[in-house]
Formats: sequence, C-alpha cells, structure tokens
Amino acid sequence: MPELPEVETQVRDLQFLIGRKILEVSSNTKKAFTPRFSEFKKRIENKKILAIERRAKYIIFTLTSKLTHHLSGGLTSARKTQKLLIHFRMTGHFLISKNSIPLEKSVRHFFKLSGGTWLQFSDIRKFGTLRLVSERDFQNLPEIRKLGAEPLSKNFTFTKFREIIQPKTGKLKSALLDQKIIAGIGNIYADEICFAAGLHPASQIEKLNPCDIEKLFCEIRNQLRKGIRNRGTTIGEFVDVRGKIGKNQNSLAAYRRHGKECKICGTILRKMKISQRTTSFCPKCQIRK
Ligand SMILES: [Zn+2]
Repeated sequence: MPELPEVETQVRDLQFLIGRKILEVSSNTKKAFTPRFSEFKKRIENKKILAIERRAKYIIFTLTSKLTHHLSGGLTSARKTQKLLIHFRMTGHFLISKNSIPLEKSVRHFFKLSGGTWLQFSDIRKFGTLRLVSERDFQNLPEIRKLGAEPLSKNFTFTKFREIIQPKTGKLKSALLDQKIIAGIGNIYADEICFAAGLHPASQIEKLNPCDIEKLFCEIRNQLRKGIRNRGTTIGEFVDVRGKIGKNQNSLAAYRRHGKECKICGTILRKMKISQRTTSFCPKCQIRK
C-alpha cells in the first residue's frame, strides 16, 4: 500500500496540473466514486484545479469554477470551491499521458485536462476511492477529522510528539500504524523506523524513556524523508506519474528482511505479527522495552 512518501511523490509530480481544467472524466469502475458517477461527472467537469495537496495518505484536489445560475430571469454567477479526495488504498496511482490510450491494463479512470494532458488512475485491486465534497463538508468529514499529526509538518515538533505519545499504551508498532496518532505511516516505514531507532517493535510505549522518544521522533522524520528522496518504495505496483519505480526498496534495513542478516550486526532478522501485520526486526539491535 502506498504510504506517506509514495503519496507525497505523486503529489509533488502533479503540481504542474494546477491551473488546468478537468474537461472530461470517464471510468470503467464506477463503484469507486462518491457521489455516484453520473453526479460526480456533472459536478467535476469544467472545474479548474486550484491546489493539489497531501493529508496522511490522501491526495486532495481543490477545485473551483464559475457557475452560472438563472435566477428570476437574471444571471448570477457564484464561485464555488470543492474538494476531490482520493485514497489509493492497496494499488492505486496516477499516471500522466498525452492521449487517452491506457498506459497500464489496470487503468480505471481517465481525466481529460486542458493543455492536452490526461490523468489516468491505475488500480489493479480496485480499492481506490474518489470522493467529491464541498469545502464545508470536507472540514467535517469523519475520516479527515480523526487523522492524527502530520509528521513532516512544521508544527510536528519534538514537544508535540512527546505530548502525543506519552499518554499512549500498547505496542510501539501498533501506535506507529495508528492513523489517529500519526498520519501516513504504514507497514514498510513502521518497520524501518523501529529498526533505525533501535527499538523492538513490540516495545511497550509506556516504558520508553525520553531518549527513546527522541530517537523515535528523529527516525519517523528521517525514514519518511528518505522515502521521499528515493521517490518511494516499490514492492508491489507503486510508480511515479511517469511510470517509474521508486528506489527506497534498495536500501530497506528491516521490512520483509526476516531470515536475512542484519545490516548492522549480522544477526538473522526475525519476524512476528503485530496488529495482524508481519513485522521484521533484529533481536540484537532492537531493544525490547
Ligand atoms: Zn542487528
């Protein structure tokens, strides 16, 4: 599943689309849309892209348009802003093309944009979702409201992190995966963060000392930034908008490396299940608290 660095890689690549108009949308997998496709299409076509941002693992397009209404015989125009909320789930990603020929067999949705560009949404498993909401409804969406801290934002300071993490109990990795605590971390980066911080993923959070919490804070940011620098981790289907795979899989230290030697001490990495997810760790380098 694409995590924060993979979604961020796509969002950065898509910035050149700001200012373009969505001329037409078509789809062969209409169940992905909210509201239903016919309504979605009506509301999104001829809207201009004002911004493309990331929040957690969501891509958020801000769209606007000048709508013209006939009111009591006169013409009134009203500016309206709406948000297109996209979640890639397991296998979704955007691709950019100059025509409507699908770049992959699994392309489900096509957005024809002004300036001769097509935005294709590829999704083998068909779990990706596209949701169009008004600006006001967006602020009140439960799935947005409940999201935790954005780990690469300016206001995610060490003090803030300590405040968030100190009242928590339970296993370290489960907390890292909990989108309500910190948003955007999934199985790959959670394993890498625990390894880099030298902390066993099953450590009890309440037993972490201030030094552990500081290492954890630094490594959350380091590992996510490294993922972005490497343009994502391609284990499954992830590619950038030009169809290129990421590079971060070449330098993973823990994720899916159980049975292999630790890159630091040579001990064979072990695996265990935490929150139903396979977790790889070094029994020697990663201290269990
Ligand atoms: Zn080791």
